[in-house]
Amino acid sequence: MRGAVLAVVLSVMLGSCTAAPEAPAPTPPVVSPTGPTASATPTPTVSPSPTPTPTASPSTPSSTPSPRPRPARFDARRVQRDIEHLAVAIGPREATSRNYARAADWVERRFEALGYEVRRTRVTVPAGNSWGTPVRRGTSVNVIAERPGFDRRARHVVIGAHLDTVPVAPGAEDNASGVSVLLELARLAAAQPPSTPVQFVAFAAEEPRGPGDALHHFGSRQLVADLPQAERRAITAMVSLDRVGVRAGYVPVCRGGSDGTRLRAAVRAVGRDIGIPTRACENRTSDHWSYEKAGMPAVRIGSVPYAGYHSRRDLPSVVNRGQLDRVGRLIWAWLN
Ligand SMILES: [Zn+2]
Repeated sequence: MRGAVLAVVLSVMLGSCTAAPEAPAPTPPVVSPTGPTASATPTPTVSPSPTPTPTASPSTPSSTPSPRPRPARFDARRVQRDIEHLAVAIGPREATSRNYARAADWVERRFEALGYEVRRTRVTVPAGNSWGTPVRRGTSVNVIAERPGFDRRARHVVIGAHLDTVPVAPGAEDNASGVSVLLELARLAAAQPPSTPVQFVAFAAEEPRGPGDALHHFGSRQLVADLPQAERRAITAMVSLDRVGVRAGYVPVCRGGSDGTRLRAAVRAVGRDIGIPTRACENRTSDHWSYEKAGMPAVRIGSVPYAGYHSRRDLPSVVNRGQLDRVGRLIWAWLN
């Protein structure tokens, strides 16, 4: 009896699945943000993902009413202009200095002009010694930019770059290069939002005020320490852009520990896809380490050695437009 009922039920189910060629497809094909090659299949059978999400609309920016004539492209010339501004017009930007405050104001205005909502978090830093120069106790600020409606508890990516320098250095490479690439990526992401939302951060007080982890990376450490658990879980990847403009035949992609391994491989795979050579490296000397230490996948882009490091000679001439272009295109391709 039960067997017969089961057989009937099964035959009805099978019939409804396999036959009925005239039945329309139940839903329009879901556009996967990660699978641009998937095309509409003629067979009305298998959905590529078990849980289709018809509400996702990755390609429609809400705040730009006019249609886009062409895809946004990374522009390394804009990046060079911003490096000039930070390193020459403003100059050295020790985390508690007046120049740092000017730089933070400038970055904030730039984000706002792109339509981002900007907030700051205060960072207290101790007195110490920064690469040979005594520095006083004081306060600095992280500058954080998000699109209107950004949900910090929903999956997102963090891209950051430290805005401060050691006291003597104009910091064209370290780290006006990273901040300026950050601003250009923010411009692209405003014009053409990636499927995974991005939080952009200009970090305070990355440079050391003494030896060891405890006297380094103050801005990112404080931001990570203040993250609610739900927000921490929502961060699928963190990228620190730190010293990204010195010419090399490759882009360094560094992890600090094992939590960066898969992300590093993913970024390098994108490099292979688009013909940008990368080199795996390992270091803990940038803000990615604050995120990795807390268990989030994070990598640092950059760290090519150069003669003007942490000196008065860290001027825009040490930065190479081709290298900025490689870094920017790599991260933009990875985001998309
Ligand atoms: Zn740096």
